Amino acid sequence: MKGRISAIQSLGTVDGPGLRTVIFAAHCPLRCAYCHNPETWAENGEEYEAEDIAKKVLRFKPYIRNGGVTFSGGEPLVQAKFFSSLADILKSEGLHIALDTSGNVAGEDVDELTEKIDMALLDIKFTTEEEYRTYTGGSLRKTLDYLGKLHALGKRVWIRQVIAQGLTDSEENITRLARLIAPFESVIDRVELLPFRKLCLEKYEQLGIPFPLAAVPETDEATIARLSALLAQERSKAV
Ligand code: SF4
Repeated sequence: MKGRISAIQSLGTVDGPGLRTVIFAAHCPLRCAYCHNPETWAENGEEYEAEDIAKKVLRFKPYIRNGGVTFSGGEPLVQAKFFSSLADILKSEGLHIALDTSGNVAGEDVDELTEKIDMALLDIKFTTEEEYRTYTGGSLRKTLDYLGKLHALGKRVWIRQVIAQGLTDSEENITRLARLIAPFESVIDRVELLPFRKLCLEKYEQLGIPFPLAAVPETDEATIARLSALLAQERSKAV
């Protein structure tokens, strides 16, 4: 089974618990205004057999034994069949599998992959359907449907949201986020608010794509701390 991969990061620390190998899928159906990986948008990543990717990952097995492997992107669900066969090999080696996704893709292959993962890092990019469509081209409804699927299967979930000034940094947005995830709290282990950063500017320049949020300042840690405290308070009220 072949898949298109844009990069492999051997020892990551932020995309799931412990030290992890992160596999970045090529291709993504969304176009998030703050995307850090625009090089993954096209379908032109290198093509690999699942067995070959597994061999690369297994070289790091001694280091990632207590962490695992994260399928990221791009959007790994677009190549659900490929990641499903990769998950089969990695799970037979006892490795923990996390899936980093927006949940905007559905279908039988997606269901099959979802049953195989240990946890998901689910990005709830915006908290209204209109904003989600405007700033990503995708659908909040699809993300929430996928969260429902993870919940029904009892998969552990980390929710994530990028906080960008003027887009997601309002108190109303945080209150809405708490309400949206309330029905699924039993599987949610963590909610991470991530600061908007502009480290990707050079990539956009190289690709000749204008960065839509070039004028938006990076989000400071004080804003993240304030909104994280508010989120904790709203989550305790919402359940
Ligand atoms: S889902 Fe991820 S890779 Fe795709 S456009 Fe959004 S931020 Fe970029």
